[in-house]
Amino acid sequence: MEKKYVALSFDDGPNLGTTQKTLDILEKYHVPASFFLIGQNIGKDTAKSVERALKLGCEAENHSFTHSNMPAFTPEQITDEINETSRLIKEITGRDPEFFRPPYIDYDQKMFDTIPLTFICGSGCDDWDPNFGVEHRIQKTLANAKHGEIFLLHDSADNTMTVPAIDVIIPELLDRGYTFLTVSALFRECGVTPGRNVIYSNVFQES
Ligand SMILES: [Zn+2]
Repeated sequence: MEKKYVALSFDDGPNLGTTQKTLDILEKYHVPASFFLIGQNIGKDTAKSVERALKLGCEAENHSFTHSNMPAFTPEQITDEINETSRLIKEITGRDPEFFRPPYIDYDQKMFDTIPLTFICGSGCDDWDPNFGVEHRIQKTLANAKHGEIFLLHDSADNTMTVPAIDVIIPELLDRGYTFLTVSALFRECGVTPGRNVIYSNVFQES
């Protein structure tokens, strides 16, 4: 059977609640994911969630320090947001983040020019909005599944409905023949070199 690869990614951690419950599900199915961390959420306690994620084969990437609308920032402020978050991540993981997800997917050319990381969006299932329940999240994610796709999900502390959703999504996509990879492995295994001035939801997209 032809290989089909996808990546799960989770924004707005780390925390000790939803992040740990998310990791429980990943561990149950032996699949990795990429976590886009908010720098100001990384502390001595929450670092434990990052360490556990690492042990499960997950990766930690950059989602800014303060989770602000960054086009309003100067290049110096943008650089501070990125560098401080990457420094905190590297302290725990020993690895420099390669990928960046703009808070609120709000970005401009100045950010492309300033941030030396690959920009990632991903296909979402409205899981930042409590008005969209578990079943909606499952169906929308499954409908978006295709080779090279990056799924944008959230492990925010107050998000209780994505954990039960991925408990259905992961086994279903495994049944459909998909292999789950981290975002960096997804680019590598798909043979795609990430470009500049582009924000990816699927590694094969043109622009
Ligand atoms: Zn976010």
